[in-house]
Amino acid sequence: MNMRVGTGLDFHRLIQDPERPLLLGGVEIPGDLALDGHSDADVLLHALSDAILGALGKGDIGEHFPDTDARYKNLDSTKILHHALDAMRKERYEISNVDITLIGERPRLHPYRLLIRESLMFQMDLELVQIGLKATTTEKMGALGRAEGLGCIASVLLYRSAGNAG
Ligand SMILES: [Zn+2]
Repeated sequence: MNMRVGTGLDFHRLIQDPERPLLLGGVEIPGDLALDGHSDADVLLHALSDAILGALGKGDIGEHFPDTDARYKNLDSTKILHHALDAMRKERYEISNVDITLIGERPRLHPYRLLIRESLMFQMDLELVQIGLKATTTEKMGALGRAEGLGCIASVLLYRSAGNAG
């Protein structure tokens, strides 16, 4: 069996903007906080998509969706994820599992963890047990500790079974 591992890391600044939705894994987290960015700034989907592209050796989402391109303003990041998944399927890989950790003080993610996992399950066509989602803080240290932003790290393991190797 051919296996590939990938890691993605992303950060976005937290802002107060009741007009801008805060999206994590495609799930809207209620409240006044939002993540700033050229796209919809879904830090979780960005880290996850980077992990998939990284496993394939296909660069990063910044190359595929440059933030200097006006077409990608407020881009729905589920499109980025699906772009990475399409690249993966083209190479005939499948996901064994993903493991994601959000890093920050705010928002409190506990109430939304299952919803986010279910959203990823649906979008990636996986079982819930294939999706790990954790949250941690930096114990008030640094910019993330001051809730100036939110970070996310994602790992993914891809496999290509012998039966479908080309
Ligand atoms: Zn990002």
